[in-house]
Amino acid sequence: MRIAAHTLGCKLNYAETADHLRRMAAEGHEVVDWTAEADLYLVNTCTVTAVAEKKCRAAIRQAHRRNPQAQIVVMGCFAQTAAAEIAAMPGVTQVLGNESKPLLSYSGASRNDRTRTFFKIQDGCDYFCSYCAIPYARGRSRSASIEETLCAARRIAATGAKEVVLTGVNTGTFGQHSGESFLDLLRGLDAVDGILRYRISSIEPNLLSDDIIDFVASSRAFLPHFHIPLQAGSDHVLRLMRRRYDTALYAAKLQRIKQAMPDACIAADIIAGFNGESEDEFRKTLRFVDSNPISYLHVFTYSDRPGTAAMRLDEKIPVAVRHEHTRQLLHLSEQKHAAFIQSQLGKVRPVLWESTDHQGHLEGWTDNYIRLRRPYDPQRVNTVEPLLLTRDNIAKEAAST
Ligand code: SF4
Repeated sequence: MRIAAHTLGCKLNYAETADHLRRMAAEGHEVVDWTAEADLYLVNTCTVTAVAEKKCRAAIRQAHRRNPQAQIVVMGCFAQTAAAEIAAMPGVTQVLGNESKPLLSYSGASRNDRTRTFFKIQDGCDYFCSYCAIPYARGRSRSASIEETLCAARRIAATGAKEVVLTGVNTGTFGQHSGESFLDLLRGLDAVDGILRYRISSIEPNLLSDDIIDFVASSRAFLPHFHIPLQAGSDHVLRLMRRRYDTALYAAKLQRIKQAMPDACIAADIIAGFNGESEDEFRKTLRFVDSNPISYLHVFTYSDRPGTAAMRLDEKIPVAVRHEHTRQLLHLSEQKHAAFIQSQLGKVRPVLWESTDHQGHLEGWTDNYIRLRRPYDPQRVNTVEPLLLTRDNIAKEAAST
């Protein structure tokens, strides 16, 4: 069969789709581009916002239009939470729940680029933040053992990938049900031969212990790049969200990171327009982001997720205000990111060059997640080179997820 796949949502989904395709290719099926005519379309879905769900429906309709005879298999979080609705869509032949996804999986960062790999080490979440449907869609937190995870990391090293991004739904809870710890996993991974760099794709602030920060600072391969969900810079809103930290704890983590790694890049997620977030509370978020060493933001516009506790909160923020707050946060993010890059000019940072030819240029990420470019040179692909940061070698696409 010719198989095409389309993935929506997080890096975890990308790792899982790649794993499915790898297995199907090993069984002799041909993997074709999503835009090609295929016999089976695989759509890996996301339920994080109403917009994400809309895109999932659109992808399913697209596949059905492209080949009305094709099988369409839908998996992922939206498939889990809206199975009946999806099963009734024209062309859909199978809806798979998240339990059909492998516990450990990995994928190349982009097509034909084997330099960076997303490695899923954990799935599910027990936190039940009030706005989030993921614990319902993905189930309880679970992970393989450290030994099994290290075996998978050695297999990744054998593919030649030099950089590994550790992904999960709530990565910091790795091992919590088996008595193993995330920090011990990091220590084990640091000793795996062949992998030069690790990033932790995201970690909850309350799980980012000082021991983990100190370990990253002194490790061989863990990079000074953190992604720490903030969601709001107001303690009142954080309580409404049922988050497990306050702004004081978050700020303390940032200070600790910057003391140990002054050039670290720190990204934060923010939700704009959460129920109950008054204009005053929103101003607190702007001030908190502005006054703390956050390098840039991932901004999500709030939408009610069916079945979540936040839906029952009374004070709904008008959609136009949610979008206005989103715009202001994105603007602040651009300013923060420009200031971060400015702070790095004139410094030498190691960059891992990717393989794609960008119109005569190589591109790659520094350890602290700045996108650089240089004239194309095949000898440099998949190697790490120290480079002086100047205005001229910063790539246009400065930072993304
Ligand atoms: S930590 Fe909160 S936001 Fe993150 S997946 Fe778990 S419930 Fe959702």
